[in-house]
Amino acid sequence: MLALPLSWPLENRRVVLIGAGAWLARKVTLLRRTPAEVVVYQPAEQSVLEGISASHARWPEAADLKDAALIVVAFEDRALAEKGAELARTSRAPLNVVDFPDLSDFHVPAIIDRGPLSIGVATGGTAPVLARETRTRIEAAIPPSEAFVAEFALALSAPLRQAIPNVDDRRRFWEAVLKSPAAEQARQGQVAEAVALALKDVETRAERQGVVHLVGAGPGDPELLTLKALRLLSEADVIVYDRLVGDGIMDLARRDAERFYVGKARSNHSVPQDQIHDLLVEQARLGKRVVRLKGGDPFVFGRGGEEVEALRQAGIEVHVTPGITAALGCAASSGVPLTHRDHAQSVTFITGHARDGDSGNQPLMLDWSALSASNHTLVVYMGVATSAEIADKLMRHGRLPDTPVLVVENGTRANESRRLTSLGQLNATIAATPPKGPALLIIGEVAALYRDDAAAVAGIVETASRMNA
Ligand code: SAH
Repeated sequence: MLALPLSWPLENRRVVLIGAGAWLARKVTLLRRTPAEVVVYQPAEQSVLEGISASHARWPEAADLKDAALIVVAFEDRALAEKGAELARTSRAPLNVVDFPDLSDFHVPAIIDRGPLSIGVATGGTAPVLARETRTRIEAAIPPSEAFVAEFALALSAPLRQAIPNVDDRRRFWEAVLKSPAAEQARQGQVAEAVALALKDVETRAERQGVVHLVGAGPGDPELLTLKALRLLSEADVIVYDRLVGDGIMDLARRDAERFYVGKARSNHSVPQDQIHDLLVEQARLGKRVVRLKGGDPFVFGRGGEEVEALRQAGIEVHVTPGITAALGCAASSGVPLTHRDHAQSVTFITGHARDGDSGNQPLMLDWSALSASNHTLVVYMGVATSAEIADKLMRHGRLPDTPVLVVENGTRANESRRLTSLGQLNATIAATPPKGPALLIIGEVAALYRDDAAAVAGIVETASRMNA
């Protein structure tokens, strides 16, 4: 940058112009568009200039220049320009000598005038034609109606400062309001109406700051929602939900809530996590009550932690309402206690899914010897694809092949199905009928407490009775 384009407020300031002819007239025209008091000295001629505060047909005295905020000298003739500059130097006001950058303290950039919004194109006085051409391109890009938007912004600025004292909150409001219908109305020239509309928006916003609730929807059965989840669903403006949210649950949500599905569609692609964050932030910033509804519990293999972090970073109020996690739902619906005085003193939830980006060959960097202890229940989420590997690891670390495993698919839903098998048989069981819905593995002695006629026929109940003995 050769020069720094500055912006000089001229409210209640006096600008003195000394000059003649067309050069002077051009600068007068420009300065009359500002709120400055414009005083003109025309020593060489006496044409009448309209719309200025005062016009004198003489050179100014030192006293005339004393209070000037800026001085502009505009003569075509270099000798006159130099004389004007010399006089101007008796004052401390910054000086511009039109077309003689060497005599000037400051240059006037090429200006795009959009009311309160002004854009200056400066080249440090070296290439005025380039500056003008650039201005033409910007003129085309910023239509004159932007002046109305700028007027709207100007009128809104003081009341907004009062209504939203916090700087960050205010910036967020500006970001939203400049894209809002109010700005659109301003663009149509209805500035006063637009301001009123925006201020009404501020009021409702103040009453109702945007907020995001991460809500656990439970494993599927709508009756397993918490009372709080139900209330939040009935109050939501926006609901962002995914595939694991059971049928029937969305029917309980407020009718006119806006709904965003972010789970896997037919294309089998779900919305990337960062886009979900953006969506939550965007909706909350519009002042909406957003419910982010997640299967099970938001904080159990639900990426709820990442969402909370993203929202906090964006300065958005966020609350978490727990849900019944799949392990608890499936255990209850199949009558398998996860802990039991006789069979399991502890329970661990693991995910069978490798982190995105990890090699598919070596997921599950877990402490397998601890997980293979007897009298310990292991519940595997997202473990269908890696079940063979999980069974293999557990057996290699000492779990017996006849350790019971319950595979629960669509737990707590109308189409729930369960299969009791063993660690040694797990792979074959899954391969025989691969689960299509969400499925959970409950591994450990307690799984044998599950009974069902089909399993009895298969003779697996034998294991159970042995354990119960
Ligand atoms: N936050 C959820 C878990 C999300 S991970 C929760 O707390 O339950 C997704 C995995 O959860 C699925 O792959 C499956 O292993 C399990 N899951 C979710 N709902 C289930 C259901 N109704 N029945 C069986 N497993 C389920």
